[in-house]
Amino acid sequence: MQTPVPEYLAHVIDQCENNQTGKLADYIPELAHANPDQVALAMSTVDGQIYAVGDEDIEFTIQSMSKPFTYAYVLQQLGLDEVLDKVGVEPSGEAFNEISLGHDKRPKNPMINSGAITTHSLIPIKDQLESAEIIRRFMSELAGRELCFDEAVYASEIKTAYRNLSIGYMLRTVGILETDPVDIVNGYIRQCSILVTVKDLVKMGSILANGGIDATTGKRLLNRDVVRQVLSVMMSCGMYDAAGDWLTTVGIPAKSGVAGGILGVLPGQVSIAAFSPRLDEHGNSVRGIEMMERLSRDMGLHLMEGTPSAQTIVQSHYRTGKNASTSIYVLRGVLKFTEAEMLLRIFQGEAVDESTIVIDLTQISLIHDVGKRMFLEGVDRLIDDGHSVLLVDPEQRLEQARTHKDRVLHVYQNMDELLEK
Ligand code: GLU
Repeated sequence: MQTPVPEYLAHVIDQCENNQTGKLADYIPELAHANPDQVALAMSTVDGQIYAVGDEDIEFTIQSMSKPFTYAYVLQQLGLDEVLDKVGVEPSGEAFNEISLGHDKRPKNPMINSGAITTHSLIPIKDQLESAEIIRRFMSELAGRELCFDEAVYASEIKTAYRNLSIGYMLRTVGILETDPVDIVNGYIRQCSILVTVKDLVKMGSILANGGIDATTGKRLLNRDVVRQVLSVMMSCGMYDAAGDWLTTVGIPAKSGVAGGILGVLPGQVSIAAFSPRLDEHGNSVRGIEMMERLSRDMGLHLMEGTPSAQTIVQSHYRTGKNASTSIYVLRGVLKFTEAEMLLRIFQGEAVDESTIVIDLTQISLIHDVGKRMFLEGVDRLIDDGHSVLLVDPEQRLEQARTHKDRVLHVYQNMDELLEK
């Protein structure tokens, strides 16, 4: 059989194709040459499966969708405090290119131009590379292929960059920018001219959705706390002055760009990218918004619709052996705080005696730090009660399976191996 996901995505495109409202961005003259009818949609799961339909191979400039990635890069390099000193995290409620600052003189957030130009200025220069080249390499690593600049779009924006230059001079005046604002604005505009397809965007987004790990290589590219910071800011500030509307209707952390792209990232689930060049009055792709709204509604992707996961932590529990003295717990799903809390509550039902407790973690897909700590604490308490505890964990995710009381647990590869002993 074939999965229906591509057909479903194609259906979503069909549904919006008649919508010809909106206008091409023309304040960057080159963008006004885009074919307004183009439309593409892609989705990536956290394990790296990419689905893409429509004009999926058409490249367009990343524009403002570069902002979260540059923000991620500087956070990763400099740490949160140094970045927060220069750029805030409050939604501005203003247009993306507003010439304004917060009361404390910092740009309000890194998703509007003043904040993004500041973020760009923080890129630590290495190996004498230009800042935009550093970002191009970083984004290429996330995308898993070599991305290029669109020289025509870059040249075209530079020629008419009066507004971004005024923002640059304003930032230099208050000391937020510490070097020549013209160079920094140039670098920022070059960063915006990187070419991507919807497939590149979902690949880059999937690394954010997957907590910073590239699922195809298994390599960690961003720290978890960096990802959390970036997604939070995308959630509250990603859609320009339409952020509140977006949060209630779509509810997926996202960032749009004036070439017509929108990238949405749902932590732990999917990344989605839509592209179509006609924009609404806020500078967001009209069809892009329509497609994202539909996907969020049809697939229940709204962040606030989180389903309770803890109900499934114990997939089955049974007793075996002489006098049913061995208690076997087969766990399933993700082990975070809520699941660990529920599990330890279930373990409370084990009588204080010398019985054996087997816990099978094979089908646990992720063990969060707090989940691990609580789990090991629970195991210590079971042992204190007199039980022997045996674990089945083929992936050895509890590291040396050393409890807080420094007990080393028996970890088996699978149930068969355990039963043989
Ligand atoms: N390069 C564009 C600018 O700074 C990006 C704007 C956007 O995509 O929102 O005006």
